[in-house]
Amino acid sequence: MPLPYHERTCYCAEVGEDHVGQTVLITGWVQNRRDHGGMVFIDVRDRTGLVQLKFNPDRDPRSHEIAGRLRAEYCVAVRGEVAARPEGLVNPNLASGAVEIEVHEIDILSESATPPFDIADDTEANEELRLKYRYLDLRRPVLQRSLITRHRIVRAIREHFDREGFIEIETPILTKSTPEGARDYLVPSRVHPGRFYALPQSPQIFKQLLMISGFDKYVQIARCFRDEDLRADRQPEFTQLDMEMSFVQAENVFDVIERCMAHVMKQIHGVDIPRPFPRVAFDRAMNEYGTDAPDTRYDMKLIDVSAAAKKSEFRVFADALAAGGVVRAMRVPGGATMTRKETDRLADDLRGIGAGGLPLVKVAQDDDSRIAFQTGVAKFFTPETTAEIAGATGAGEGDLLFFAAGAPADVCKHLSWLRTVVARKRDLIPKNEWHFLWIVDVPMFEWNADEKRWDSMHHPFTAPRDEDVPLLDSDPGRVLSQGYDLVLNGTELGSGSVRIHRADVQRKIFGLLNITPEQQQLRFGFLLDALRYGPPPHGGIALGLDRIMMLLTGLDSLRDTLSFPKTAKAQDLMTEAPSPVDEKQLRELALKSTAATEATPT
Ligand code: ASP
Repeated sequence: MPLPYHERTCYCAEVGEDHVGQTVLITGWVQNRRDHGGMVFIDVRDRTGLVQLKFNPDRDPRSHEIAGRLRAEYCVAVRGEVAARPEGLVNPNLASGAVEIEVHEIDILSESATPPFDIADDTEANEELRLKYRYLDLRRPVLQRSLITRHRIVRAIREHFDREGFIEIETPILTKSTPEGARDYLVPSRVHPGRFYALPQSPQIFKQLLMISGFDKYVQIARCFRDEDLRADRQPEFTQLDMEMSFVQAENVFDVIERCMAHVMKQIHGVDIPRPFPRVAFDRAMNEYGTDAPDTRYDMKLIDVSAAAKKSEFRVFADALAAGGVVRAMRVPGGATMTRKETDRLADDLRGIGAGGLPLVKVAQDDDSRIAFQTGVAKFFTPETTAEIAGATGAGEGDLLFFAAGAPADVCKHLSWLRTVVARKRDLIPKNEWHFLWIVDVPMFEWNADEKRWDSMHHPFTAPRDEDVPLLDSDPGRVLSQGYDLVLNGTELGSGSVRIHRADVQRKIFGLLNITPEQQQLRFGFLLDALRYGPPPHGGIALGLDRIMMLLTGLDSLRDTLSFPKTAKAQDLMTEAPSPVDEKQLRELALKSTAATEATPT
């Protein structure tokens, strides 16, 4: 009689001291096998963890014989009696470590080929191999935990929004282009030759239409698709926590999202995060941190020292200031211990992202206990300018100051890069702290110098601040929007805005973005039409679920938050997608490939 594997009594890691003396039936995969003088020990694994099996040749010769045939990753069902492990053999690192199962019966449900890598958290296998055999990679406990945590996060999010009266509504996947600034994935239509659907870059327009339909509070865990250029930690398809609300201002959206994040943090980490989250103006973030996604877990703010730098004799500073640029400094607490090798290395890396060099000074005290600069560009400063810069930056003995000079955008880029890298290298980032913040007062547009036109900072449906509407005609560059970003520990989790709900304003913004009235009608005619039918004021946000997952679980890679991810080259190494298709299929779709790799002939 085969073992009734469908009558499993518990999961592996659940077998514990309470079971001692009882018979249990478990199922799982063979992790490893040890032989101790005729006695065979096998660890069996399922999604909860491991349990140790003991095969005694005297008690059950048949099982003992089967145990001899077991290899890694064989799938088995086991029945046996739970016994306390002898003293001294208890494994405190294992949930089931106080017990073992004395096996009475075992069935091999299926055999396994030798896996291409060990099924363990520490694996030597490179990622390519792991992704090719993703179903085995997913057997590794670290990835099992990751996907289970993802499930718990999504459940907590759904709980929150349900409690708040939101309605989860699915929006189409086969749709029309949604402008989020990336390239679309297109799907050719067979029924309408020469026409294409686009996969949604976000449900943006649909969620706004749902507000016009009167649903009032919408939420969706939404799959989005963006055909962007290769970047290590990007996926062509990703998941957003997407929401929209009617009759709200930004503060209402902040409130719902803050309580959602607090609920998730409580569920996942058992921590209470302080609310409300700080609101940081875009301008201030750029000035103080050089980025619109600042990590405020550590200080190291950027300080403008242009006035003092002007008095120095350092050419780089003088040239930058003469060209209308700025000089900013960043203090590294205790940084005077950094070696020349370390700072040279940083300077090299900075050159890689376009900086000219890395001026620095170390901060010491002279014989009269006055602050003195040493090394680097110290010789260009008089005692007065030294005191001025030390005062502005708060630099004290043992610190180091880095400088950057040039156009504000470049200085921001270089110093914010430096700030992050140095904080990491010098271990200045406190562990287990969660710094959420909102970036507000975001500019409406940025100038696209190549195309000589304005681009939306967020997307074209974002409303300008009411008081800035007159500037739309006179000085669009100064218009601030009602857009916002949510940032956690220096990573942008997502953006949102209060939307435009007036057709005339929407047309005006499209116009400023160089979208002609004909194009407006062609691309967004249905939205402009809908805005004629009593649209409510509304706003919302979308947060990247994969990023939230990565930050909350401390995983290094976005791919490890996903079941079957793609590589940085947007390939699935397991299914080998994207792949060529039959010529017949192409013909049906009225398509002809011009690519060098041809369709599979049929
Ligand atoms: N659709 C926007 C995005 O994907 C989010 C939003 O404005 O709600 O970034």
